[in-house]
Amino acid sequence: MESLAERLEKLKERIERAKLRSGRSDSVTLLGVTKTVAPERVDEARLAGLELVGENRLQEALPKMEALKGNGLKWHFIGTFQGNKSRKCVENFSMIQSIGKRDHLERLSRALKDLGGAAYPVLLEVNIGKEPQKSGFLEEELALVLEERSLWPEVEIQGLMAVPPFDSDPRPFFKRMRKLFEQGKGLKVLSMGMSEDFETAVEEGATMVRLGRALFGERRV
Ligand SMILES: *Cc1c(COP(=O)(O)O)cnc(C)c1O
Repeated sequence: MESLAERLEKLKERIERAKLRSGRSDSVTLLGVTKTVAPERVDEARLAGLELVGENRLQEALPKMEALKGNGLKWHFIGTFQGNKSRKCVENFSMIQSIGKRDHLERLSRALKDLGGAAYPVLLEVNIGKEPQKSGFLEEELALVLEERSLWPEVEIQGLMAVPPFDSDPRPFFKRMRKLFEQGKGLKVLSMGMSEDFETAVEEGATMVRLGRALFGERRV
């Protein structure tokens, strides 16, 4: 069986090749998605060179972080954000990628004020497929929220995140995200692409891909 180190190396090569195909010379960050992955495996990936991981659920993430405390990994929150958990999220994650409502910005802003902290980095999640069951801003809302970002000075909007619909060709959605990203002015991070479609995402301009199964193997639920 392939080791985690070998898998990580191969994934990095595939990212590099996708960059070359699209003539890119900037860098793409690989975030390892560690939901359902045991702390020992997460640490193995870190030893192989992984620096950034993402978790969907606070409940699952907190004990894992505790088990791996002090090992230098950076953690991003990528799951459904709940305003009432703002403080816990901010205290434990270096970024929240899934801010998908104005109410999230309000709640987060208030929590940050209480904590007296400096600007906290987030990504705005975009519901790029306009799927009713999915969270995230609609394209129409996004421009306004970005225009009004000074309303929430404690929150530093660094970029955009999206998960395109599962059952269709992701490329047009990635293209659309790239447009929104470029129109967003001053945005640095475009987080899109998962195990099945990250090469397409990189070809279309992703600056961060989020890989779970391709790195850690199939999830057992
Ligand atoms: C689970 C998850 C991923 C990773 O999915 P894989 O298909 O395992 O690569 C990426 N982003 C989000 C938001 C996720 O929930």
